Amino acid sequence: MTGGWDAFQPIAWVATTPVNQTRFLTLARHFGGTIWCSPQLATHPDCHAYGTSLRDHLQYLWADHRTLVLGLTLGAVVRLIAPLLTDKQRDPLVLCIPESGQYVITVCGGHQRQGDRLCQAIASWLNAQAIITDASSAQGLPGVDTWGHPWGWRKGAGDWTALAGALIRGEPVQVVQEASQTLWRQALPPQAPLRWTDAPDAHHPQIWITHRQVNPTVPHAIWHPRVLWVGVGCARGTPAWVIQQAIAQVFAEHALALDAIAGLASIDIKQDEAGLVALCQNQGWPLRTFPADQLRAVAVPNPSPVVAQAVGTPSVAEAAAVQAAQGPLLVPKQVLDNVTVAVALAPREFLDRQGYLYLVGAGPGDLSQLTPAARCALAHADVVIGYRLYLELLAPLKRPGQIWEAYGIGQETERAQRAIDLATWGLTVAVVSSGDSGIYGMAGVVLELLHHQQHQPLLNRVQVVPGISALQAVASRVGVPLMQDFCAISLSDLHVPWETIAHRLTQAAQGDWVTVLYNPCSSQRTWQLPAAQAIFLQHRDPQTPVAVVRQAYRSDEQIWRSDLAHFTQLPVDMFCTVIIGNRRSYWSDYGLITPRREPPEPPHFAPQTQNSNSG
Ligand code: SAH
Repeated sequence: MTGGWDAFQPIAWVATTPVNQTRFLTLARHFGGTIWCSPQLATHPDCHAYGTSLRDHLQYLWADHRTLVLGLTLGAVVRLIAPLLTDKQRDPLVLCIPESGQYVITVCGGHQRQGDRLCQAIASWLNAQAIITDASSAQGLPGVDTWGHPWGWRKGAGDWTALAGALIRGEPVQVVQEASQTLWRQALPPQAPLRWTDAPDAHHPQIWITHRQVNPTVPHAIWHPRVLWVGVGCARGTPAWVIQQAIAQVFAEHALALDAIAGLASIDIKQDEAGLVALCQNQGWPLRTFPADQLRAVAVPNPSPVVAQAVGTPSVAEAAAVQAAQGPLLVPKQVLDNVTVAVALAPREFLDRQGYLYLVGAGPGDLSQLTPAARCALAHADVVIGYRLYLELLAPLKRPGQIWEAYGIGQETERAQRAIDLATWGLTVAVVSSGDSGIYGMAGVVLELLHHQQHQPLLNRVQVVPGISALQAVASRVGVPLMQDFCAISLSDLHVPWETIAHRLTQAAQGDWVTVLYNPCSSQRTWQLPAAQAIFLQHRDPQTPVAVVRQAYRSDEQIWRSDLAHFTQLPVDMFCTVIIGNRRSYWSDYGLITPRREPPEPPHFAPQTQNSNSG
């Protein structure tokens, strides 16, 4: 499993020492790729030994790997790769992880190969320091030549270095966006010296996000989002080059950028048309085809009765373009060499990759309680989605270029559906819950939706990343209350009927379970906590110790020692978790202790239970 790291495959991990070999065995299991070791190292079934010298072997790895992670000194890495470097568009990403494992260094490919992102993710996984040396990330601004990467934009002409320099110096840069969604703008910090405009002047450099061919007279950089769907109709047997030429001519006449092509669209009887299929394969374009009755329903400017008679829909090119784009027709049908071409503009660009969903448990709050694996997932994500308060606690981890979408309390299904939509589109999305995502958290909401929507592709591309749940966090703050069998019960009756909750409370009280109460109280739900107390008092001693912790591991943490008779007098709210001990639990100087050992005697519960049993 490559955990959604497809963009970096194939990865080669090169180890020359036993320490790095062991390290890379775990890393390769998570990030994917092949491990290469020096012939002297102990053989492991998951490692390949390179036979020749490392210098020779690197030459081979260089040619057909997208990523090389070298477990060497930085000096050795530089010497070894120096003769192999050509240009940054073609060279693989090279990361260096020195023997100590304290650092992960992007050597080259930080921008073009999104290497800084992988560097950060591996560093998070190893709890190491990522060494990222580009200038823009220091300002919280993603490099101008990486803006389009998460969105699959293609780079057009540009003075990329000049533009990057201007931004780093804080000089105003104009941005003209003519196509694609605007979600990506949220990735840019508000203080960036960018001027959004539809009418750029000639005094400042310009960045264009456009589907058109443009040629500004000032220093500029151009991104082409893949937003154009080209509807094509052609006679059987039309060769690929004829179709390609027709498209090129239409694009030239209308000053459209070929790099902005998302894909081709046609009628379903053309799905095996050799010329169309070959052209799409060559260009890396998807071919989307639709049945005649679907095309017939699309309103078009140039319907043709002749076409309708032949294939059952009055329009192929125009209707298919609009249908694929789900947006307006930009170029009505043009006929060249018996090839009909029409172009439509999609509101959202085509992403040529599969999305991935991380369901991340962020722990109770403090960053020290976040696991390295959760940090790694957050570093990887294009978009992080979560309840506002939790995102605020995680704010220091926001990576330049990353989008964070904060939601209000409640809105769980909206959050889950939003994550599914973005991942279906092709983005890597992290949905954050406090504590553990699979304990009264978002993981269940997302996975249930995916299951009910029978969303097979995403069900195979989702990972639950565990976190420290409130019960562990709170227990650690009050002592060792969970040393015997325990259970957790949520007092929220928003999703579960109170009768069910009351029944479980009764069983927990009767069974002498240490009981952790989640969601004990909120401004809307105030009677449930006293009701739970009343149930427990029927079966347990009023002096049973009870601990209440509010905002564990957060700056305004509060801890109370109480007992069953009195704990409801505390200011318990939705930020609290309550732990009710069992009949042997006691308060010590350190805190709440539930003894590990149960003496071998038949259970005898609180007097009321015995009475009711004997009665
Ligand atoms: N997924 C979370 C639980 C979410 S339900 C987890 O595994 O911890 C929300 C409830 O969790 C809150 O009402 C409260 O009872 C508890 N909770 C979450 N974080 C807490 C914290 N830092 N301190 C105390 N209780 C907390």
